[in-house]
Amino acid sequence: MTAPDHSRFPPAPTWLEINLGAVRRNTAAVLRHTGQPLMAVVKADAYGLGAAAISRAALEAGAAWLAVARCSEGLELRRAGIQAPILVFGMAVPAEVDAALANNLTLTLYNRESADLIAQRAAALGLTARVHLKVDTGFGRMGALPDQALDLAGYAQCLGGIQLDGLYSHLAMADEAPDHPLTRQQIERFTGVLAALRAAGHDPRWVHLSNSAAAFLLPEAHFNLVRTGSALIGLLPAYFLPLPAELERAVTWKALIADTKALPGGWAVGYGQTERPEPGEAIGVLSVGYGDGFRRAPGNVVLVHGRRIPVIGRVSSDLTTLRLPPGFPPAREAVLIGRQGQEAIYAEELAKRWGCSQSAVLSGISPRVPRVYLEE
Ligand SMILES: *Cc1c(COP(=O)(O)O)cnc(C)c1O
Repeated sequence: MTAPDHSRFPPAPTWLEINLGAVRRNTAAVLRHTGQPLMAVVKADAYGLGAAAISRAALEAGAAWLAVARCSEGLELRRAGIQAPILVFGMAVPAEVDAALANNLTLTLYNRESADLIAQRAAALGLTARVHLKVDTGFGRMGALPDQALDLAGYAQCLGGIQLDGLYSHLAMADEAPDHPLTRQQIERFTGVLAALRAAGHDPRWVHLSNSAAAFLLPEAHFNLVRTGSALIGLLPAYFLPLPAELERAVTWKALIADTKALPGGWAVGYGQTERPEPGEAIGVLSVGYGDGFRRAPGNVVLVHGRRIPVIGRVSSDLTTLRLPPGFPPAREAVLIGRQGQEAIYAEELAKRWGCSQSAVLSGISPRVPRVYLEE
């Protein structure tokens, strides 16, 4: 009897493979496409893929900036030794603002309260805080309204200790609908605010409005910095278009089939006993569940031997059961996201099934799923 080769096993029963080569090439592709400096958006741990690894790959490929949503995320990148400029999109709270400023994170100025906090702590620390002013041009979320932006810039200037280094806004419809009238309106309002700031003597060095969709579809929204998250990791920049030919998918999610067996006649599967195998079918016991981020929803499928295999019964916390057709060859590995043979399941398909966004699918993959970095 020969001993089984245990060295060929993956690090865990379910794991993510992230192709950093693809991230690098995607970064270069966006830079080529826009001709403008790039801000790599690595919030939410780079949509769950690992902010430090994705940041390094993007910076090596030419990104100039990074962006995160929370100060804590920016500080983690600093602790990882990353020195590139980092913009924090979200609010800073008093408990974190000193560390943010001391570590040279660029904060978002969006109302008077944010100006007061930043100015007060900058003065206490004896430094000048660089900020980017966020304008709400129609998203209806965070940011100064267009007719208040100039006022806010003046207010921050009077407080002192704040340097207005950038101006930005975010598009609400660019990735959802082509030629939506709001997108045009947002670009116009943004251009108007920029002109008003300049006329009043403010000169934000970095001006940015584009997300991944606008990077590919709206050159008039590029200004002098383009923010992309999705495009760098090979998610669709816009839901209404296929992946641009110059981008590559960077993520594969796999799980091992722990066991395969035929159930005795009359047996049903799992919590609630909702489904029964047909005669001749076996079940595959797949090592992934909603505790890993594989959500319970109707219509789940995975790839095994390059075929779409349906889930049978309910997804549980740590296990999922597959309906294997009669005579199905023994199998060890299933692909939940990615390509296998001629078939593929990508994050946008899961997003549709689960009623969420493609980045939410990836962000929802829990920390217990190891991230394995490949260079292909
Ligand atoms: C998340 C985010 C982005 C990145 O969007 P993608 O579509 O993933 O490129 C850009 N800007 C802001 C403000 C964001 O919150």
